[in-house]
Amino acid sequence: MNTTALRASAITFTADPFLVGAENAYHYEEDALILMEAGKIKQFGSFEKYKSSIPEGVELKTYKNSLIIPGFIDTHIHYPQTQIIGAFGSQLIDWLNNYTFIAEQQFKNFDYAKSVAEVFFNQCLRSGTTTVMSYCTVHPESVNAFFEVAQNKKMRAIAGKVLMDRNAPQALLDTAQLGYDQSKDLIKKWHGKDRLSYAITPRFAPTSTHEQLEITGALWKEHPGTYMQTHVSENLGEIAWVKDLFPKHKDYLDVYEHYGLLGKRSMYGHGVHLSEREWQRMFETQSSIAHCPTSNEFLGSGLFNFEMAKNKNRPVKIGLATDVGAGTSFSQLQSMNESYKIAQLGGFALSSIHGFYLATLGAAESLDLQDKIGSLQGGMEADLTILDLSSTPLIDFRMKYCQSIEEALFIQMTLGDDRSINAVYISGDLAYEKSR
Ligand SMILES: [Zn+2]
Repeated sequence: MNTTALRASAITFTADPFLVGAENAYHYEEDALILMEAGKIKQFGSFEKYKSSIPEGVELKTYKNSLIIPGFIDTHIHYPQTQIIGAFGSQLIDWLNNYTFIAEQQFKNFDYAKSVAEVFFNQCLRSGTTTVMSYCTVHPESVNAFFEVAQNKKMRAIAGKVLMDRNAPQALLDTAQLGYDQSKDLIKKWHGKDRLSYAITPRFAPTSTHEQLEITGALWKEHPGTYMQTHVSENLGEIAWVKDLFPKHKDYLDVYEHYGLLGKRSMYGHGVHLSEREWQRMFETQSSIAHCPTSNEFLGSGLFNFEMAKNKNRPVKIGLATDVGAGTSFSQLQSMNESYKIAQLGGFALSSIHGFYLATLGAAESLDLQDKIGSLQGGMEADLTILDLSSTPLIDFRMKYCQSIEEALFIQMTLGDDRSINAVYISGDLAYEKSR
């Protein structure tokens, strides 16, 4: 059997630091051994203690000045928007009309979609991201292309065909029935195959009719174990529009609840402006939020409120996300950096333990995958990211004054990016290595 043995310092997260405090939420090994076999982690612990368990003939790979962490998980991203990252100057609805809806029309062509999916996954890997939950476009071809590339790379990935039957260009619209039929076929083809899962994907309430939202709720109910992803409460103009389109509902989230779209394995992008009632319902229904800091800043959407989201009486599961192409970086280190600043502007100090938790175990919990990915322990799928702790001259200099692992992580999340990624292992195999 193919066994891989790695030696470096390592950290994994064991609980939600928002609930138990940062100091009680992680396990750090200064000199760790990780054994991987058949795609899973077989052993994680102190090198001294476990070195005798390295099977005979297996070569030990040592990473100096590095830190092994669980691979980053990105809980909200649009792979078709890779080509419009960094498009200048507008807020959500204009941005959709001026850039997104134009780019997405090209994804009817499978070969084109596949070429973008290749670029996309390579960017994910070089950023240390090993699992993504992505939107595709309205075209089934875009989903097939995405999953083919993910499957080739042996990655765990979640995605689905966007459902839209109004308020977008004709070329990007389906109908309630067509969206249902196409999604059903794609679920049959991809859901549960290797490490792939399907997400039923109504883009957001304004681009679906009542009929489409209704049949989407039925579709999700008919396929237990699949995901549901959409956007909620990202920007004030959008919220006003939803109120206009759905005047009878209590608020934005209530529209989704009405159509049966809340519950475990539902992932809501943003949630910047949710009310106390909406947070309460998110908690009660075990729905999750994908927090997208670089995107919220880039589109001027608003400041995510951690104290509301993680109220100890009704803590909501939160996963960190890049939301590329409105997000400005594939790097979850950069997401943490901007999340820290957003939290500061709201009077909350987000520690490095909080940040790294949100991109690993917290994200896994938000996807109901904490028994498979997001932490280093025996039996988990072997997706690892190895951080180079001195990846730039400035970080190297700054690290000389570093006193603790919390501080080392904070330096990485503030100053780091894709240059900080030394290597990535997917299912126990080396999938990316930084060239020097
Ligand atoms: Zn989005």
